[in-house]
Amino acid sequence: MLRLENIVKDYDVAGSKVHALKDITLAFRKNEFVSILGPSGCGKTTLLNIVGGLDKYTDGDLYINGISTKEFNASDWDLYRNHRIGFIFQAYNLIPHQSILSNVELALTISGISKKERIEKAKKALDKVGLTNQYYKKPNQLSGGQCQRVAIARALVNEPDILLADEPTGALDTETSLQIMELIKEISKERLVIMVTHNPELANSYSTRIIRLLDGKLVSDTLPYSLEEEKLEEKAKVRKNKKAKMSKVTAVKLSSQNLWSKRKRTSMVAIAGSIGIIGVSLVLAISGGVHNYIDSMQDDLLSGNPVTIEESSFDMSALLNTSNKKEVIKEIEIIDGKVNINPVIERLMKMKDQMGSMTIKNTINEDYIHYIKDMDEEFTSAIKYGYDIDLTNNFYTDFTVRNESEFRSISSIIRNYETILKEMKEFSDLSSYIKLFEKCFEEAPTSTEFIESQYDILEGSIAKEKDEMMVVLSSKQELADITLAELGYFSQEDFITYAENANKKEDKDPTIRETRFDYSKILGKKIKYLPNDTIYSKTESLEGIINPFTYNYLLNEERNSTNGLEMKIVGILKPKPTISYGCLSSGFYYTNALT
Ligand code: ADP
Ligand code: MG
Repeated sequence: MLRLENIVKDYDVAGSKVHALKDITLAFRKNEFVSILGPSGCGKTTLLNIVGGLDKYTDGDLYINGISTKEFNASDWDLYRNHRIGFIFQAYNLIPHQSILSNVELALTISGISKKERIEKAKKALDKVGLTNQYYKKPNQLSGGQCQRVAIARALVNEPDILLADEPTGALDTETSLQIMELIKEISKERLVIMVTHNPELANSYSTRIIRLLDGKLVSDTLPYSLEEEKLEEKAKVRKNKKAKMSKVTAVKLSSQNLWSKRKRTSMVAIAGSIGIIGVSLVLAISGGVHNYIDSMQDDLLSGNPVTIEESSFDMSALLNTSNKKEVIKEIEIIDGKVNINPVIERLMKMKDQMGSMTIKNTINEDYIHYIKDMDEEFTSAIKYGYDIDLTNNFYTDFTVRNESEFRSISSIIRNYETILKEMKEFSDLSSYIKLFEKCFEEAPTSTEFIESQYDILEGSIAKEKDEMMVVLSSKQELADITLAELGYFSQEDFITYAENANKKEDKDPTIRETRFDYSKILGKKIKYLPNDTIYSKTESLEGIINPFTYNYLLNEERNSTNGLEMKIVGILKPKPTISYGCLSSGFYYTNALT
């Protein structure tokens, strides 16, 4: 899991070089207890620090899970040190005025967990090293052996894969040393332990491999780890890839949660804010060798936050540069008895110029659309075109008001609820939220296979033809109550009863909350696409007299029977359990053929 290739470390001391490590080539297994022996000054600590990322090598390369660290930047190293490595030193290095619980808890680098969880984790780590119920003691109330146990708990609290120990028993008596060694041996059963010591007896009786250094060079190794052996083990690991380390999965999860919580903000902010964290978890996960997992996670994330090309968008880099460019408008002198003019127009024009330099205009014409359509398929999973079409004006459905069915456009049903709710005092705030659900119809991506790779078909099939639509449910098999109301699935009276019940503090009727719709009712909804020229007709008789452009709107029954395109809801879909950000959020989808 760790491989040093021709590692050289020189220190510059007063103009001359100290060659602390001279061409060290060495590899470590995922799971072994290695002791490094050698006289003082031979480079043991230097080697350990380089392995742990505390110090940078002068030449050569350090591979972590087959990945070269040559291109690692500061944050890659931070991540490696914080999540993969635990350190123990001879001098314990505890914070004296903090309780041992705080000492351990402070080392927790996993973010996004509550204080309560942190304390629990820290306590668990202390329990493991035999310090149960001493949580609130300070380091100076403990013996040396106990302090080293705290240091071990601190090293283990992040569940690292690698434990590095620099003369951990150097300051302890024989009896205590043996206890600490027992503990480290126990720890080495599930991770790599590299321990520097100058006590050959301890090395012999506890470690599985002994490496000797002399004057910066490797002089012996009792169990070398060859490249061939490493490759064989890599292969075996790829075969049982699924056992990704918990810590990496958590890191990926954290970044996805971060994305999710930002989903409602503008995509610009969400993407900018999350790329850093995704990048970090990618490095982490790739260095953990879980390529497959990441690949599917990437697909999943990208389909929820796809690459979008719009006619105009923001240039983030220009946004960051504007502060330098800000021009100051010269203020004029204040004179007693005079009123100055605030040059608002000049200010606005300046602002406009600045805004202009921040926006990017993309020319999206037929040529460009053809270019996208002809793009090599390997670059995309699916493509979705948006034309800013608002179908709510032209999709018509049955809506029941006072037991009478009316054939109305979705937009008119939305306005209807907006008005009603605004009039009802307790719901006046709600009325503005109704607007948020207006985009209940969207165009589905063009690739059926891509949709099928992320969604299970609960009923029917995927919409393909221009008169076909499909319904996508959430992972909890839901459609929003407001969406259902806007599409006339509730009668007006039923929806008001539903809303009033939801607003009740007590005496809620649970049966109302448990209202469910059969698949057949969802699929059976009649939705008709009526272009404007089918529902509006020019009023000949009044032409030119009252208003040159006067149109008549068809009556209810006429609308119902007029020739439009009768839509069929052909399928109900639900995200596969493995998908967290599918390409479709819950709602109704029509096809590119209709557009
Ligand atoms: P060990 O741990 O085996 O006693 P070290 O790795 O601490 O040895 O030191 C190896 C050599 O590198 C020594 O000659 C030491 O003086 C030198 N050295 C270690 N750290 C530094 C440093 N930060 N600056 C200059 N020289 C150093
Ligand atoms: Mg040393």
